[in-house]
Amino acid sequence: MTATVEVPRAHEALDGRTLPVEDPATEVTVAHVARGGSAEVDRAVAAARSATRTMRDTLPLERGRALRRLAAEVDAAADELARLESLDTGKPPALARGEIAGCVGYLDYYAGAATALQGDTIPLGPGTLAWTTPEPVGVTAHIVPWNAPLSMLCRSVAPALAAGNTAVVKPAEQTPLTALRFAGLVEAAGFPTGTYEVVTGLGAEAGAALAAHRGIGSLTFTGSVATGRAVLRAAAEHVTPVVTELGGKSPQIVFADADLDDVARQVVTGFTANSGQYCDAGSRLLVERAVAAELVERIRARAGALTLGAPADDPDLGPMVSADHRRRVDGYVELGRAEGAHAPVPPQTLPGAGHFVAPTVVTGVAPTMRIAREEIFGPVLAVLEFDTEEQALELADATDYGLGVGIHTADIDRALRIADRVDAGYVMINDYFAGGPAVPFGGTKLSGTGRERGLVALESYLARKTVVARRRAPWN
Ligand code: NAD
Repeated sequence: MTATVEVPRAHEALDGRTLPVEDPATEVTVAHVARGGSAEVDRAVAAARSATRTMRDTLPLERGRALRRLAAEVDAAADELARLESLDTGKPPALARGEIAGCVGYLDYYAGAATALQGDTIPLGPGTLAWTTPEPVGVTAHIVPWNAPLSMLCRSVAPALAAGNTAVVKPAEQTPLTALRFAGLVEAAGFPTGTYEVVTGLGAEAGAALAAHRGIGSLTFTGSVATGRAVLRAAAEHVTPVVTELGGKSPQIVFADADLDDVARQVVTGFTANSGQYCDAGSRLLVERAVAAELVERIRARAGALTLGAPADDPDLGPMVSADHRRRVDGYVELGRAEGAHAPVPPQTLPGAGHFVAPTVVTGVAPTMRIAREEIFGPVLAVLEFDTEEQALELADATDYGLGVGIHTADIDRALRIADRVDAGYVMINDYFAGGPAVPFGGTKLSGTGRERGLVALESYLARKTVVARRRAPWN
């Protein structure tokens, strides 16, 4: 099949090398994109650098308007973008459309924030005043994962542009199509040439070159812990500030007083949405022993009824992003069995082509097992039981991650006690995946550094300059 997205000339590799892009639902190659490396990164950073002055000098109101126009462009192209996202990731159409709507949400939200940037004034006594001004950092770099490609891109690029910066993006090699298409929409929205640059290529080549580039003022990375560490090390060379959104092993804690039908629905959505390929997937179920058997039965019934297929079949769940990743997820289920856990084969028949894994509910899991502690990034739920609130809290904290935590109970005091004490960045009470662009998101421990979303995210793309001024006496 030929390329389904037009790749702009500026995004060709200088030596003409390309990478194939596969549709993971059919295993068909649907496009070829440039295999960029350090020369292409240099070119993109230089182009972005040339636009920084124009962006910095653009009035905040104008920047906000441009972001609003960009939101409208993305909205108008939503069907096309969703189709590209489905082609690249295998996502079901409804999920892809929901993620594109989320992109519009990020752009609209940060359009408003462009005029909300403020500094402080600090009176230091008669005649002396200090103040701070928020200044753009210049060229911001964004290394984006494959699980929700355009959504993750907009999550960090929108605040970066709102703060008056330009952006260089390195999409994941598995899913570069919407990042390329977005370039045309940024141009159509009227941003200066160079505001948004894309370098496609491999992580070890283009990604590593971008992370190590001395011309960038900030770096936002979303992906695995191992790559996050590599990126932090590379950025350390130029002391580039970094936001990292890494993985999770997020628990959904369920007490016996919760509405079990509603909880079963939320738990299944939590571990199967995007086929489990979200960093905040609720991949551990911590359930009070008294209701464990009943809840697991309801979860297995719901998960077993989900359909799997290519986007054209409009299924509930799509495939894993690649053959490698499917092997990794299948390997974890096998490992769980080998560790002594109970992982019955799900009822679904898998499609003939594509990298599919059916939702798998694993019981008899001990907290020490790897399946209880490591991120799988697929539709696999590890079930652990507890008797007391204290045990639930201990289990919740028993991984190296600290991203999402879901709490399901009718007792709001108990929920708030756990929310206070649990070591995690994002707690959801009785509503898993609740949130939005205005709500700060991020993790503790190996789940990462810094926060995305909300006004607080703007700080990652700003430098605060302090001015202290003394006036000569007399003061009045
Ligand atoms: P990855 O961390 O290797 O890739 C993420 C991004 O980093 C991609 O754009 C990739 O090209 C780039 N990259 C890779 N090596 C790099 C390097 N040395 N320097 C700079 N950039 C580099 O993730 P993956 O291999 O695609 O996925 C593996 C695991 O990552 C998943 O199973 C999951 O645990 C995790 N993951 C997490 C998220 C998240 O949202 N937190 C998203 C995707 C993947």
